Amino acid sequence: MQNDVLVLNRSFYAIQITSWQRALSLVYLDHASVVDEDYKTYSFEDWRNVSRAIKDHPAGFIHTPTFKIAVPEVIALKVYDRLPTTEVKFTRRNIYEHYNHRCCYCGKKLATSELNLEHVVPKSRGGKTCWENIVTSCIPCNLKKANRLPAEVGMELLIKPSKPKWRGNISLIMRSPVRMRTSWQRFIDTVYWNQELEKDNS
Ligand SMILES: [Zn+2]
Repeated sequence: MQNDVLVLNRSFYAIQITSWQRALSLVYLDHASVVDEDYKTYSFEDWRNVSRAIKDHPAGFIHTPTFKIAVPEVIALKVYDRLPTTEVKFTRRNIYEHYNHRCCYCGKKLATSELNLEHVVPKSRGGKTCWENIVTSCIPCNLKKANRLPAEVGMELLIKPSKPKWRGNISLIMRSPVRMRTSWQRFIDTVYWNQELEKDNS
């Protein structure tokens, strides 16, 4: 039986991995809900009832004299939303959120797949990869600007680069080694967006 349970915060971001004992006790105390593969959430009671109908469960079951309960694979916290952090991490997700998923040149609000990270002062001109020099940009604006300064191509930043003041970071704390489970994948994909990018420090 595999013991690890993925813990999500209230926004369904993966934040931690814990033991099944702790996971079940969090659910029992109503501090967390069990999350199934359809993103449905269950209280302890509900999950215990659902468990009766489950024949095969990848994480196995806990048997007590009076009932059996399936070991959750994923739980979502109800009480705590995030882990305490000191500073907003320089991550893709945070950069996209900071600029509200807008192109900082034309102001269009776009899907993440249609936005790029853009160096205002190009890297080739010594532009740093940091909050003060990175903006989100749509692909047409990105192509138009290319490796030049905005003024050189008659472009202007509608949204100026800045360092966020809010504390929005959520980071994944992984004990290692941890065996990845397929049921975790959709939640873990958010790691790509939450990973701290390499920053140039001048
Ligand atoms: Zn644009």
